[in-house]
Amino acid sequence: MKLKIAIQKSGRLYDESVKLLKDCGIDLKNGVNKLKTESDNFPMEIYFLRDDDIPQYVEDAVADIGIVGENVLYEKNKKVDIVERLGFGKCRLSVAVGRSEQYDGVGYLNGKRIATTYPLLVQQFLEKNKVDAEIHEISGSVEIAPGIGLAHAIVDLVSSGSTLLANGLKEVETVLQSQAVLIRNGRLDAEQQQVLEKFLFRIRAVKKARNNKYILLNAPNEKLQEIIQMLPGMKSPTVLPLAEPGWSSVHSVLNENDFWEIIEKLKDAGAQGILVIPIEKMVI
Ligand code: ATP
Ligand code: MG
Repeated sequence: MKLKIAIQKSGRLYDESVKLLKDCGIDLKNGVNKLKTESDNFPMEIYFLRDDDIPQYVEDAVADIGIVGENVLYEKNKKVDIVERLGFGKCRLSVAVGRSEQYDGVGYLNGKRIATTYPLLVQQFLEKNKVDAEIHEISGSVEIAPGIGLAHAIVDLVSSGSTLLANGLKEVETVLQSQAVLIRNGRLDAEQQQVLEKFLFRIRAVKKARNNKYILLNAPNEKLQEIIQMLPGMKSPTVLPLAEPGWSSVHSVLNENDFWEIIEKLKDAGAQGILVIPIEKMVI
């Protein structure tokens, strides 16, 4: 038995999806067949598909699991389960209007025409906000719609906002915050479920490692207690004596989010020779 996973064939999720498999220790065969490949060292078969098709394939059990953006998943509205948020492919689905428009809240959209490739999500957004607007579904290049007189507003994916800016638009509402998620078919058998659990265990170890750094520093012994308080680590930091009397080496794990703030405090407390090292896997 091989667990079948669907990932994007090419595009914004491809690199990170392949990297996640690799970081999970799942080696892919470099086959000539670009539609699917398998792993030599893990019971997994990999299908390369357009992201729009992935929810359907997983619902139909053509693939057992898949990696897809939440934006696509909710728009397609298929019966699949979300197993894990993956922390990449982050973007938002936003409403944008011409930069010179006087936007004064969602009411602005009443009676307007909105161009989008996400008609379902836009419809839900309009209903939730009790706005009556016309949805104009197009299949791409949404950002040019206001400029050519096709629509008054658009709903499209944004990450930096530079595409909007280049097209004379401004972002005025967020419809959805999105990232890549792992989805599964709802009827996996016990064996498939077991392989999925194994895969998930590895994904979680990789995600934790990505969010944490290994830190080493030298501390004068009289400051040790103060410095240890700042570095709780997984259980507690490792403290080893240095060859030079009166000094110790402290080893610990630090969360990426607190990183800069804590580094500054450590320096202020007298820490020296601070080294920060990436962690490959982390199992707690
Ligand atoms: P496909 O050929 O597979 O249909 P696509 O052109 O629909 O590809 P991409 O542009 O490769 O899709 O984006 C894939 C996913 O990456 C998006 O659905 C979204 O979840 C995510 N993403 C992250 N950042 C962005 C962004 N700035 N713009 C668009 N998508 C983004
Ligand atoms: Mg697509």
